[in-house]
Amino acid sequence: MLEARNVVVEYAGRGWRSNGFRALHDVSFDIKPHETLGLVGESGSGKTTIGRAILGLVPVGSGSIRFDGRELIGMPRRERRRLSDDIQVVFQDPYSSLNPSMTVEDILVEPLVARRTVDRRQASVRVRTLLDQVGLPHDAVHRLPREFSGGQRQRIAIARALALRPKLIVCDEPVSALDLSTQARVLDLFISIQEETGVAYLFISHDLAVVRHISHRVAVLYRGDIVEYGDALDVTERPDHPYTKRLLMAAPIPDPDRQAARRQERRDLLASEAIA
Ligand code: ADP
Ligand code: MG
Repeated sequence: MLEARNVVVEYAGRGWRSNGFRALHDVSFDIKPHETLGLVGESGSGKTTIGRAILGLVPVGSGSIRFDGRELIGMPRRERRRLSDDIQVVFQDPYSSLNPSMTVEDILVEPLVARRTVDRRQASVRVRTLLDQVGLPHDAVHRLPREFSGGQRQRIAIARALALRPKLIVCDEPVSALDLSTQARVLDLFISIQEETGVAYLFISHDLAVVRHISHRVAVLYRGDIVEYGDALDVTERPDHPYTKRLLMAAPIPDPDRQAARRQERRDLLASEAIA
């Protein structure tokens, strides 16, 4: 469905770094219909840049990104905007991506009505369906984003991304700001939505454990290059690249009991640091 080939992105230089900065060197990958491609790498490795390149938010220096057979690079703005219904995004921080003065109803109705494919009444029926899909009560419609917890707010952002029935959602660290138990529930929501709707995800995270949990295939990004790419189990259990091996050692152990023990240790540590 999406084919990225030899993508190069360079950011314009600022001040002393006036030569510009090459954030992606030569990046190629595919996203198949209905699948989750996990994109993992440390901070600054270029993950967000890949997402932004797909969304048309950064200029791509060279290379090709085809979606449903159509080249996105250099596509005229109007055509691109029409296509953008098919590619949606969920960011890490729903605080900044949801308009704080709009009710949930308005947030979810906006993309529907903007396309003029439905009238106000049909839109409000669709809003109820979207709330069901993300596990929020119908009375959420009259409330503002700040009246919800972080996990619930991310559910609102997911509902908004689903509103136009996209084929692909770019999820950029969508659970990274959530506590661990909320992370698990929101990840399960992403999975059940995919089973229900068949939407594909590019799922970006710095956390290999998260990516392993949700992905069918995984790409490991290291300083602007994909250093490992393949079936999620192969990449996460039998990595070739030393960088992936290091990531794997830093990631929590899959055994749930040991994982719970590790989480408790981390919580205890944080609590003792907070007291100190
Ligand atoms: P990640 O999402 O993996 O943390 P990013 O894609 O955000 O990485 O950034 C990749 C690299 O590009 C980083 O070194 C970052 O400093 C640089 N970068 C990101 N955005 C810009 C920008 N607008 N201008 C200049 N450099 C940028
Ligand atoms: Mg990022």
